[in-house]
Amino acid sequence: MNRRQWLYSAGILAGVSQAAAAELAGDEPTSPSPSGESRPLLLSEYEPKSMLAVTATHVARSRFPAIDIHTHISFSKRSEKGVELAPERKYLATPEELLPVMDATNLRAMVNLTGGFEVGLADSVAKYDKAFPGRFFTFTEPSYSRFKEANYPQLQAQAIERAHLNGAKGLKLLKTLGLYLREDITSGTLVKIDDRRFDPMWDTCAQLEMPVAIHVSDPIAFFTPTDRFNERYEELSNHPDWSFYDHDFPSNQELLKARNRVIARHPKTQFIVLHVGNFAENLANVAENLEQFPNMTVDIAARIGELGRQPRAARRFFDAYQDRILFGTDATPHGNEFPQQLFGNELYQIYFRFLETGDEYFDYAPAKIPPQGRWKIYGIELPEPILKKVYCQNAARQLHLSVS
Ligand SMILES: [Zn+2]
Repeated sequence: MNRRQWLYSAGILAGVSQAAAAELAGDEPTSPSPSGESRPLLLSEYEPKSMLAVTATHVARSRFPAIDIHTHISFSKRSEKGVELAPERKYLATPEELLPVMDATNLRAMVNLTGGFEVGLADSVAKYDKAFPGRFFTFTEPSYSRFKEANYPQLQAQAIERAHLNGAKGLKLLKTLGLYLREDITSGTLVKIDDRRFDPMWDTCAQLEMPVAIHVSDPIAFFTPTDRFNERYEELSNHPDWSFYDHDFPSNQELLKARNRVIARHPKTQFIVLHVGNFAENLANVAENLEQFPNMTVDIAARIGELGRQPRAARRFFDAYQDRILFGTDATPHGNEFPQQLFGNELYQIYFRFLETGDEYFDYAPAKIPPQGRWKIYGIELPEPILKKVYCQNAARQLHLSVS
């Protein structure tokens, strides 16, 4: 095997043109044979078709009406270096576009976590929640643009009170806190998740019984080099800005520890720790946290790729924490760049298949190439009482809804 062949087989040259690869390897560029057969196959072109003859169950609708606790129907009109700065919203889909998919898949409600604040929030609530009662719920977000003001802790607490009056059901934190927000908002040192300036905000959420949906850190592979050993190599190559390796970023462990200090310090605040407690790769760690913090629940958004590749551990996890796991998908209308979040019937049906069936070895995202890593998943066949809780009852409790 020459150096170029070795680089190919190691995946290092995936996505690199053959000529460029040859140049990298120090070879003379070679022209492919007329049939193209002698050319080494690029990882990015590899689309193996499974030869397994296994059951494929089409689950068109969830067994019980579902609440998707984690969607993004709107985003900030302006953000800089990962920090959302504008209250005004940019809408990704109208309710009229969303409702047919919701009705077809048995989705009772969508929770738009990125509802913004002030005028943006009010507008969002008016357009969705008030226009279609019971079908949409909106969360507010911190106003980081005011972070430099001396009385920010009080201002932010008051903003939560106003958001509550304006109809916000909870508070959402993107991974901005811990990874993007800095002392001078977009420059300076990173602000820690357990920074005391946010204490009044967490406490106000407890007083108003608003759950906090918090995204902290990211898949652990995003904190390791984007190299041939990285299991999410292609994903990080497609989105290089998702890598938190190096620079001045804290480690995954530091982020989770700071988050845990917040959860411990605010026992009356309910924390929905998104993406399976942000550590779906390590369910033992998530279980340990759930044992330690009674005020913590998790959602499964954008992590069935992780849960479904460890189906036995996942099933034990659902059995043990069936009252504290919420159905969520991270669905984003027109989110074609990240198919694992692309709102539509297909996305929901994959989640239903994972939760409800014992099907084996199927795609976790509506995409030609598995976008979060080259593996497939297995269903976990949850029994009806657990399905009912995960699809609806657990979320209804967090949102104070009376549903059957
Ligand atoms: Zn999300």
